[in-house]
Amino acid sequence: NTSSTKIEESMIELEELAKAAGGNVLGSIIQNRDNYDVAYYLGKGKAEEIKEYANNMQANLIVFNEELSGAQIRNLEEIIGLDIIDRTALILDIFAKRALSREGKLQVELAQYKYRLPRLIGVGKEMSRLGGGIGTKGPGEKKLETDKRHIRERIYDIQRELKEIKKNREIQRSKRLKSNLPIVALVGYTNSGKSTLLNKLIQSHREYSADKDVFVKDMLFATLDVSLRKAILPSNKEYLITDTVGFVSDLPHYLVEAFKATLEEVSYADLLLHVVDSSNEHFNLQIDTTLGVLKEIGAADKPMIYVFNKADKVNYELDYKPKDEYVFISAKTGYNNEQLLQKIECHINSNLKKVKLLIP
Ligand code: GDP
Repeated sequence: NTSSTKIEESMIELEELAKAAGGNVLGSIIQNRDNYDVAYYLGKGKAEEIKEYANNMQANLIVFNEELSGAQIRNLEEIIGLDIIDRTALILDIFAKRALSREGKLQVELAQYKYRLPRLIGVGKEMSRLGGGIGTKGPGEKKLETDKRHIRERIYDIQRELKEIKKNREIQRSKRLKSNLPIVALVGYTNSGKSTLLNKLIQSHREYSADKDVFVKDMLFATLDVSLRKAILPSNKEYLITDTVGFVSDLPHYLVEAFKATLEEVSYADLLLHVVDSSNEHFNLQIDTTLGVLKEIGAADKPMIYVFNKADKVNYELDYKPKDEYVFISAKTGYNNEQLLQKIECHINSNLKKVKLLIP
């Protein structure tokens, strides 16, 4: 039925996330249970079963697909004898490794503290000693000796610094709006090729960007921060292009909140390029996830071009026809790059016309 496919899909995504965090996925278990156990999340008997399974697999870390309370993690760790993290901790860990800008780093740190505060149980026992290197990045290591009061102080400081940064962003944004250049935002599931495409599109404008090349890696969430670059169309028209956070499903609400500032860029865009990894067997799930996040930030109605990327890896006809415009490209080989540019140009021109019509 639909709910069990949904669970399976969610588990597939969890596996991808674990791999993105550098983990080696040995196996997975799905438990069907109607009643939820407050102390162990799943029943004690099931926990014993997981212990045996994990021992056979020689696992050193267990990831739960739901958010667990501090007590549940503790109780489960006691029975199973292995380190345990939940989906949220895993996502935070990936974000911590990927954040590039000061703002992105601070946002992740703040989210980590907010996640940990209610789960703290005293010095030395929480997120600091996890297996496989997962969960060890971020404030964990340096915080063994910190108590709740220190965390609260740190949260306060981070929030103050973020406010400053936000003020600066607004100044920058109004400058940018004055420049009147159209803004194109790259959106799409992580690992679809957004950074690669961005680098391709801005090649002719390298000198404009003061900062380093966007970091490209064969992992999810290569891009957590927003970067805005100038690019140029075949007609010599200039536009600004922005890259956004990794999109992932079931992001806890307070995390969506935390990354709103970076996602906000999308709502200023004139056109969205929805980049899809057409070589991924789950690409339609990834499209749905991205559309879900866009809806959440109120950007679902923006003009959009579907960019089916990695065409070089696909040797069959895709039976997916979005209602919006679409194009097959390879950001890597440059296949159909011209066609994509033409489509961008077409959209930008028709948008400019609309703006002109509004002015009497
Ligand atoms: P992002 O997370 O959406 O920014 O994705 P990236 O741009 O970091 O790309 C993820 C991985 O896919 C990298 O290893 C890229 O080299 C690879 N990649 C990107 N575009 C293509 C493409 O057109 N073809 C192939 N074969 N690989 C690509």
